Amino acid sequence: MFLSYSFTNKKTPRLLLLTGLLALICGLVLRQSAPAVPTSEVSEKVVYLTFDDGPSKVTIDLLDLLKEENVKATFFVIGATTDRGKMLYQRILDEGHTLGLHSYSHNYNQIYQSADAFFEDLTRLADHIESITGYRPQVFRFPGGSKNAVAGQGVLKEIIEGAKSRGLTYFDWNALGKDDLSYAEDPDVIAKNVIESAGDKDTIVVLLHDNTIRTTAPEAVKKIIDYYRERGYTFEALTPDSPGIRFQ
Ligand SMILES: [Zn+2]
Repeated sequence: MFLSYSFTNKKTPRLLLLTGLLALICGLVLRQSAPAVPTSEVSEKVVYLTFDDGPSKVTIDLLDLLKEENVKATFFVIGATTDRGKMLYQRILDEGHTLGLHSYSHNYNQIYQSADAFFEDLTRLADHIESITGYRPQVFRFPGGSKNAVAGQGVLKEIIEGAKSRGLTYFDWNALGKDDLSYAEDPDVIAKNVIESAGDKDTIVVLLHDNTIRTTAPEAVKKIIDYYRERGYTFEALTPDSPGIRFQ
């Protein structure tokens, strides 16, 4: 019985193999000729790396790394008075990153006295950057975020309204490196903080800091880039049209 079964089905494995091969070839041809999925249907996973408080001695290393990795980011800068700082505004722009405003003085007590005080400081920074680079930033980040303990809620609301009428867009964050310490944090810890706070979000705006103390920032950023790249994320610089990650 077994023998006769084997005999009568002798050609079956070969046939199966042939059918399988044909199916595979058809599949490959179909796959190659299939129309591309419209980009609107692709679930986009984007990381926006943002650096507050620069330019600093660390900015050059950050820019070198971003260039090497072909990643665009956003720098929310403060008032630079040195030649190096002014040159860095220009380099940030030249290399395709977004140059955003963070405040000229970064003095919370001064800028959060009133909406007028805030815009006086922000305008000073925008004028300063425009006089150096010819570019006037359109995006900004509140020092401490759009909800912070220093500014009263009334002042914050007034600033938000004032920003709209001035054509300025602000961004907060939904992931952070917790790197604003009095020392340079371990790059592994910074990367871990970002990954844990971002969770499984598709749109991630990462808050990191660029100042002279943050010497481990480039190493941490490299780890963050590698992690998200492996998981299919792309990296973009913020524009006024980017997803509105805001506390209010
Ligand atoms: Zn800041």
